[in-house]
Amino acid sequence: MWLLRTFWCGVLAGLAVSLAAAVSVPAASGETLSANQLFGAVREPTADRRPEVIGSYARGCLRGAVELPVSGPGWEVMRLSRNRNWSHPSLVRFIERLAADTEREDGVGILVGDLGQPRGGPARFGHASHQIGLDADIWLMPPPARPLSLDDRERLVPVSMVQDDRYAVDPSRFGRRQAALIRRAALSPEVARIFVNPGIKAALCATAEGDRRWLGKVRPWWGHDAHMHVRLRCPAGQLSCEDQDPPPAGDGCGAELERWLGRPPYKPKDTTQPARPVALAALPAECRVVLREP
Ligand SMILES: [Zn+2]
Repeated sequence: MWLLRTFWCGVLAGLAVSLAAAVSVPAASGETLSANQLFGAVREPTADRRPEVIGSYARGCLRGAVELPVSGPGWEVMRLSRNRNWSHPSLVRFIERLAADTEREDGVGILVGDLGQPRGGPARFGHASHQIGLDADIWLMPPPARPLSLDDRERLVPVSMVQDDRYAVDPSRFGRRQAALIRRAALSPEVARIFVNPGIKAALCATAEGDRRWLGKVRPWWGHDAHMHVRLRCPAGQLSCEDQDPPPAGDGCGAELERWLGRPPYKPKDTTQPARPVALAALPAECRVVLREP
């Protein structure tokens, strides 16, 4: 322990690779590192490749994560420096299918934002959820008509679909492509919820034709004006995975949406701001094992 503590005081930069054995060691300040810092510093998934979702979307971790390739048929992953293209295999399969279907039906594919960290867990910046490999952010703007360089993937700014200071889409940016993409994702049986800006939900409510049951999965939420956040249900057989209650019945276009539209308009928040720290003790105990194991 003494050796570890000495190491800790001296070489915080070595945190990433040496983390596994150092979980409960106090930092130099005497404070315990948050789960955000601990999980955010791990660069590799567990050696154990059997996927296991542990806990809930906003309090959990992931064993046996797989990496979504940075490019594939119909998709490109953005912000590779974040190393957040890790997930449960079911989410990789979902994105592969969504990308292929979108490219076939729309002529262009999708840009993929954050999935999760190599062992899940809370992020150091940006998200409260995305902790168990079942959440993915999909940008709503179409990809540029050229393969993206590494630099493009860091610097391209996601375009908001919503007008400034209003819960209403900008029709020059939000159109049939975006509505079809959200509907396509919502119709997938493994999808539990999709979070979008209230203005986007209002546009979908106003234009959806035919069977509207898929709309019930599309949930208004703060922000989410440039991307949709897709959340999968707990995969079959994942006994340590905690599902949310299903969304209320109906299309969600009535009183619930009206309440959202009556709130003050959303002010965009910088997604690189530090996330609220989560104590390791607030996660399921098994997540400590996931942090430490090879
Ligand atoms: Zn998200």
